Amino acid sequence: MERVTSRAEVRSKVAALRSGGATIGFVPTMGAFHEGHLDLVRLAAELSDAVVVSIFVNPAQFDRPEDLTAYPRDLAGDERALAGLGEQAPELVFAPGVDEMYPRPPATAVTVAGLDEYLCGLARPGHFDGVGLVVVKLLNIVAPDLVVFGRKDRQQLQIVRRIVADLNLPVEVVAGPTVREPDGVALSSRNRRLDTDQRVAARALSRALRTAVLLVRDARAAGRAPAVASITGAAAAALAVPGVEAEYLEVVDPDTMHPIEGALPTHGTAVVAVAAHVAGVRLIDNVEVGDLEDEQRLLDATA
Ligand code: AMP
Repeated sequence: MERVTSRAEVRSKVAALRSGGATIGFVPTMGAFHEGHLDLVRLAAELSDAVVVSIFVNPAQFDRPEDLTAYPRDLAGDERALAGLGEQAPELVFAPGVDEMYPRPPATAVTVAGLDEYLCGLARPGHFDGVGLVVVKLLNIVAPDLVVFGRKDRQQLQIVRRIVADLNLPVEVVAGPTVREPDGVALSSRNRRLDTDQRVAARALSRALRTAVLLVRDARAAGRAPAVASITGAAAAALAVPGVEAEYLEVVDPDTMHPIEGALPTHGTAVVAVAAHVAGVRLIDNVEVGDLEDEQRLLDATA
């Protein structure tokens, strides 16, 4: 495992790997690794011959300067965690500085119209433009065969898929399952900021999703089209625990990320997405109902 910090170095190292016949898997991250990140690296290692992990806290995607300053940075710890993956450790860690990624303020914008209108896009204006910009830059720099994103950030995943499709970027987008704590809480670097009671309260998000999955399953098993209002009503009740302040709880189309109105069809998938604040810490989670694997992973983790 080797660390590189310049675009030129990563390009030439990737070219060398490729000329030896290796396929390249890429995992873009902002560092401060937890098991969720490491799982994406394992997935990339399974699906490709050589893996590149980028660690870059992207200023363009922070809507509040204080969040950018407060974002945890631990390059040495991250590299130890990656080395601990043994055979599945990446070949390259690309850890550029801000000047390397943004030698001058970009005049080019990457906006995926429509997909950022709801959920996190509504709460964090400009956030997904910053994500889109850095993802396109990183994909152009690394030029991987496949890139892995977590389902935990479902709207981000969809936006990346759409950018890749619209711009004909020659890369396969792979979605990694959400990794959870034993009590069902989705792993996030922000969980560290919660004390014991707040951490217990945070279970409400995955419990709300569990409620939604069970309701959809029951309705569909009985041949009924589940009403969105009954899904969100039941899930909101599970989310309403002391210390948890709901931001959104929506049932959205998995492709457009727009709220579904009325009822879900009897077949097909929909994303139930939730965001809530626990002691000022913003947490998100989601499940894709109708995707039996994703449903089951959530049910197993929240049993
Ligand atoms: P970040 O460093 O927060 O930008 O995240 C890097 C990647 O890790 C993104 O693709 C995230 O979706 C993914 N990720 C974050 N949390 C999890 C998790 N609990 N399980 C799986 N992937 C995750």
